[in-house]
Amino acid sequence: MFSKSNPSQNEEMAIPSSADNRSTFSVIGSDVTVSGDIDASVDLHIDGRVEGDIHRTTYRALEARARKLAAAFEAAGVKKGDRVGTLAWNGYRHMEAYYAVGGMGAVVHTINPRLHPDQIAWIINHAEDRHMVFDVTFLPIIQAVAPKCPNVEQWIALIDADRQPEADVPGLTNYETFLASGRDDYVWPEMDENSAVALCYTSGTTGNPKGALYGHRSTVLHAYAAALPDAMGASARDTILPVVPMFHVNAWGIPYVAPMVGAKLVFPGGQLDGKSVHDLFEQEGVTYSAGVPTVWLGLLQYMKENGLKFSTLSRTVIGGSACPPAMIKTFRDYGVDVIHAWGMTELSPLGTLSRLQGKHLDLPEDAQMKLYEKQGRVVYGIDMKIVDDEGKALPWDGTTYGNLLVRGPWVIREYFKGEGGDPLAYDAEGKGWFPTGDVATIDGDGFMQITDRSKDVIKSGGEWISSIDLENLAIAHPDVANAAVIGVAHPKWDERPLLIAVRRPGSEVTREQLIAHYEGRIAKWWTPDDVQFVDELPLGATGKVLKTKLREQFKDYKLPTA
Ligand code: ADP
Repeated sequence: MFSKSNPSQNEEMAIPSSADNRSTFSVIGSDVTVSGDIDASVDLHIDGRVEGDIHRTTYRALEARARKLAAAFEAAGVKKGDRVGTLAWNGYRHMEAYYAVGGMGAVVHTINPRLHPDQIAWIINHAEDRHMVFDVTFLPIIQAVAPKCPNVEQWIALIDADRQPEADVPGLTNYETFLASGRDDYVWPEMDENSAVALCYTSGTTGNPKGALYGHRSTVLHAYAAALPDAMGASARDTILPVVPMFHVNAWGIPYVAPMVGAKLVFPGGQLDGKSVHDLFEQEGVTYSAGVPTVWLGLLQYMKENGLKFSTLSRTVIGGSACPPAMIKTFRDYGVDVIHAWGMTELSPLGTLSRLQGKHLDLPEDAQMKLYEKQGRVVYGIDMKIVDDEGKALPWDGTTYGNLLVRGPWVIREYFKGEGGDPLAYDAEGKGWFPTGDVATIDGDGFMQITDRSKDVIKSGGEWISSIDLENLAIAHPDVANAAVIGVAHPKWDERPLLIAVRRPGSEVTREQLIAHYEGRIAKWWTPDDVQFVDELPLGATGKVLKTKLREQFKDYKLPTA
């Protein structure tokens, strides 16, 4: 991950800081701002906040500490290729661990704390992590999983010695003591660019989670592509706050992109509620952010209730699931450009992003909106195509939909340890295309639009109905806080759509009103057959609506039309 600095870029910016002048991402004058705060609501027998509100540091300091940490891991027996697990929020120590572990040739294995502890234990054992770093917020999880993970030698709490929690966890230590044990003159090793740097497991809604292993080469290429003007468009003038967690697909590459371009980085820690995120945006002058739609729902709701605005935010990448057009519009009304993106764990994750081309700049807002709603064009490096069930390529006309396939230098070729099936097994051409499991259209300009995940598409009378389109329309209704559409069994049509909606607080919107809302906005036969109201939708570990859970919840439900 480490590369020679480029002094021509800005004399002052890049300062070699390792002993041999080889490895640096130091950026003078550019802060990394990170809050070291950890959810104070979790009782860890520590009074108040574990640490002060904001911890400020620089890339230069970060590099020095990462190098010392790498030395500590080396002394603890971590070798090239070994996995080191992390269970942590977006924070500066997590960032240090990223660079220490990756830089020494080992593999930083990020784990999603929202998974069930049994799944976490399974993943730790499968990855053969022998060292784990974790935020103390997650101590209860560590206590639950430690007895099931006998091969973990050290559980390193991301905290200083004074605040190390007491717990009956064998091999428990704290980060600052461990880091201090490393020597200062450690030299980053040379390594094959194809060696592994990071490991992330897919959320595994069916079967066991599968490991996606990222290489140095693919990660650097992905970061270059992600930083391009028509992708994230990141620069040294940006202040970037990744809301998307570092424990899921490397926060979409931001921990690599920000140092690459010299942007100031702001980490929110565990405080992701609307107020905390908005306060931090304003306080630190954040220009750029990224996250899944569900986190933005909370922020936008809070801003609306309190009549707030953004003073500095200019762009946000939204992806992970379809961004409702109503959300794009709200952000635009606040003066923020939404960059709708599509990707997957198996793609590091970026595949496509939706940004206007020159010829679209004079289009009326409505026509531009249609483009923003799409998942966009491939970033350079990725190829895509849509095919029918026989694998025959389909036209790029914006209406024909088919199975979406991709290939490129950061598209997975094999799951970790070769387990979880061959990701390329269903390729019709036998040339290394990866079937994404998504169904999409592509228009003549190459703008891709996801119609559905193939398993969520509603098959009615031999035709397909897009659950995403129906959800987007429901969410655009002023009385709907959130919505999901699933297909339920129908004796005549095979499946028909059922809308499951969450009302906004205080709203009494009815089934009939919501059904009427679809009139004239969609083909009549696409209209949901019924509406069920719920208090909340089940969310998965990455903040996406869990349709599997909804299907389970409504398995005995009978449509009035059946
Ligand atoms: P998992 O596959 O375990 O859910 P990922 O984070 O890799 O975890 O999810 C990738 C999937 O998320 C894609 O295949 C697609 O179905 C969905 N997805 C990602 N971004 C978007 C988007 N902008 N619009 C619609 N679906 C999306």
